[in-house]
Amino acid sequence: MPAPTLPDPNVVLTGRFAPEQARRYAHLPFTLPDGVGQLHVRYDYSDRVGSDPALRDGNTLDIGLFARGIAPGSPGFRGWSGSNKAAFTIARDWATPPLPPRPPRPRPLARRARPLQGLGARLDYRVALWFDPGLPPEEPTLVRRGSPARPDLPPPAEPGWLRGDPHCHTLHSDGDSWPAEALHAAAEAGLDFLGITDHNSATFHHPDPARAGDLPVLLPGIEVTTYGGHWNCWGLERWFEFRDPTPAAAERAMREAAAAGGLVSINHPKPLGPPWEYGDARGYAAIEVWNGPWLALNSLALAFWEERLRRGERPVAVGGSDTHRLRGADPRALYTPRLGQPTVWVQTGGARTPAAILAALRAGRSFITASPAGPQLYLDRRAPPAGARGRRRRRR
Ligand SMILES: [Zn+2]
Repeated sequence: MPAPTLPDPNVVLTGRFAPEQARRYAHLPFTLPDGVGQLHVRYDYSDRVGSDPALRDGNTLDIGLFARGIAPGSPGFRGWSGSNKAAFTIARDWATPPLPPRPPRPRPLARRARPLQGLGARLDYRVALWFDPGLPPEEPTLVRRGSPARPDLPPPAEPGWLRGDPHCHTLHSDGDSWPAEALHAAAEAGLDFLGITDHNSATFHHPDPARAGDLPVLLPGIEVTTYGGHWNCWGLERWFEFRDPTPAAAERAMREAAAAGGLVSINHPKPLGPPWEYGDARGYAAIEVWNGPWLALNSLALAFWEERLRRGERPVAVGGSDTHRLRGADPRALYTPRLGQPTVWVQTGGARTPAAILAALRAGRSFITASPAGPQLYLDRRAPPAGARGRRRRRR
């Protein structure tokens, strides 16, 4: 949809980031006049390239929005979509996801921005703000109503196991579909649960109770996305500090999430993951050893996990498809992740609740397979010193 033509903006903020400011956020305060019911933001910058970590020789500028208070954990955090959206709107009764609709408050707002891949180049930015431009709600694109068509898959070879995908993205960060569509697609892939983990998105989703029997269990989550690595937190509905890319800040945020009851996982610790740069920072309980197709360097993520095991740590190995697109492949991408590839199996005793799924994951009553079809591998721990015994179950 072409951007509507607007009159001159009410406020224009311009500036320059120097190379030494790469991977750091800056706050750009502005004042919203009293009584404004709609705020529209557009931004642009020099030498723009996409946010793919493989891209070089250009700039990526991420943007988010605070209303009042920019401190860690502040309730003033309104949302963040990285560099995914060049324009967004907050109105009284609708907003561009992930921003929640609400009247923009007549208080100073602050925005943060940064160059990611300046690599010696400067970045000139221009942010334009419109107050009450009268834009109509953006096109609702929800499709896939009705009952999902579940595939014919082999049942769990042992009772009490569920299969799911704990890692995907929606329009609430840089995915291409609404959360309800992702749940529908997960059902059609044969999954029992789906974790929606949008990048630094503080909006959480509550499934329609009328469709609860129809759709997979929704595991609330967030992918805390920092310039030194990404981590998932499942089970809580809040944001965590992501602006300070130091090991100490990462550990502090992960420990805070764990202390609040969240399950914390280091995501895709492998080249182009993007990788994990926080060295010995602790506070996680799981590591994503399989992200998307196995051949996408996941053997290095598995080696990262094994190295932690050899140190005496016992993080649980998890997987996740990291699916972003349900509406067709990205023509520039080497591969397109699919929901359930890989699949994480958890033993909940048949309980179909987020709490039961998280408890199973936390206890390591889980395994990972290439797809929802398996193959299924169950290990029983026997009394020492017998160790582990494997029984491979094939499709029956
Ligand atoms: Zn990630």
